[in-house]
Amino acid sequence: MSTVPTLEQLHALGPAQQPSYPDSAAVAAAVQRLRTAPPLVFAGECDELKEKIAAVTRGEAFMLQGGDCAETFDGVTADNVRNKLRVLLQMAVVLTYAASVPVVKVGRIAGQYAKPRSKDMETRVVAGEEVTLPAYRGDAVNGYEFTPEARIPDPQRLVDVYNSSAATLNLVRAFVTGGYADLRQVHTWNTDFVKSSAAGQRYEAVASEIDRALTFMRAIGADPDEFHRVDFHSSHEALVLEYEHAMTRIDSRTQQPYDVSGHFVWIGERTRQLDGAHVELLSHIKNPIGVKLGPTTSPDDALALAAKLNPQNEAGRLTFITRFGAGKIREGLPPLIEKVTAEGVQVAWICDPMHGNTFEASSGYKTRRFDDVIDEVQGFFDVHRALGTWPGGVHVELTGDDVTECVGGGEELAEIDLGNRYESVCDPRLNRVQSLELSFLVAEMLRK
Ligand code: PEP
Ligand code: MN
Repeated sequence: MSTVPTLEQLHALGPAQQPSYPDSAAVAAAVQRLRTAPPLVFAGECDELKEKIAAVTRGEAFMLQGGDCAETFDGVTADNVRNKLRVLLQMAVVLTYAASVPVVKVGRIAGQYAKPRSKDMETRVVAGEEVTLPAYRGDAVNGYEFTPEARIPDPQRLVDVYNSSAATLNLVRAFVTGGYADLRQVHTWNTDFVKSSAAGQRYEAVASEIDRALTFMRAIGADPDEFHRVDFHSSHEALVLEYEHAMTRIDSRTQQPYDVSGHFVWIGERTRQLDGAHVELLSHIKNPIGVKLGPTTSPDDALALAAKLNPQNEAGRLTFITRFGAGKIREGLPPLIEKVTAEGVQVAWICDPMHGNTFEASSGYKTRRFDDVIDEVQGFFDVHRALGTWPGGVHVELTGDDVTECVGGGEELAEIDLGNRYESVCDPRLNRVQSLELSFLVAEMLRK
């Protein structure tokens, strides 16, 4: 078994996108605290997810991964967690029912607190003057508030990430096993504002059909356990090395290292350097992992990443999350898939239709067009269908609330509406109605 490199060895590789902490003693104290904290997930649960992703790799299941771009500590409330879980459950029901395919459910939740940034500094006009401060890097690193104090990286926040993730996961586990995710609740998930939307009404019809099927099943004496609970998994970008390294533990059962901060962790587009620290650390852990692949990825880059991150070529271990942008996917994706497939590399392909489609509205808000998101997913399906490979899933930024962050969709949100309820501290998310709409459109693509 290869041994996990030390934190010092990782730092010697010059990792990208790391906080510059002013006080190294405080970093050491936070890391020490984390090293002794109990695991947030079990290695065995990570193995179970890996098996499910192996089914995605084989073309037998579809992965739905979604949640905030950036979770916040303030966002750890019962309502917020329930709303996100609820929209993901609704989407999964639509996909499962309409496309008759098992859906592997993974939240960008309970650990998604650290953000890579394209610029280290942020400039705003404050009281008529331009002020430049370090960029916000997620609640894991510094504060969102635009003040010099808030923007100083504070390692104690890593301990707060652990505690917030623990609280979130505790609630998620209670919801998914305690009756909330029971299929007999399909109607009750469709509440309030969403119910009156066209997508909500369409969902209502699906829920009624499921109800009828369940009643029939009960009448013939079948009431399997699967009706009453769901499998739901946590995931986040493995970005801050102090945190991910401290949460990497040797599993007592297998003597193998696992990153027990989440079931699935991924490497972002900005930190996927082959000889970089993130690839190095994740090459040693046994969790199922992902890598984001943007439009500059060459087929050889993809092969080299697969060789390093999945040398045994185990199905379920590695997921490629492509994020090309609607305008580039139809040309950019085929060469990657062709070469990876020709080499016999086992990988699940999933589509992130968000990160290649971000732009700044004239009002200054970062946004995405719902139509571009759908167009990228459609391009992803078209490319896979043409090559005979399996479009294995979608990776989306969404929220369970009625926010106004992405434009378009059935509610026809316009750029002028963005200010009404823009709450993301990072990238724009699909709101609940847009998320449901997406799931119906994806279900149609799956069915064809
Ligand atoms: C993200 O998923 O929020 C993100 C930053 O993605 P990417 O690494 O693909 O840019
Ligand atoms: Mn994002």
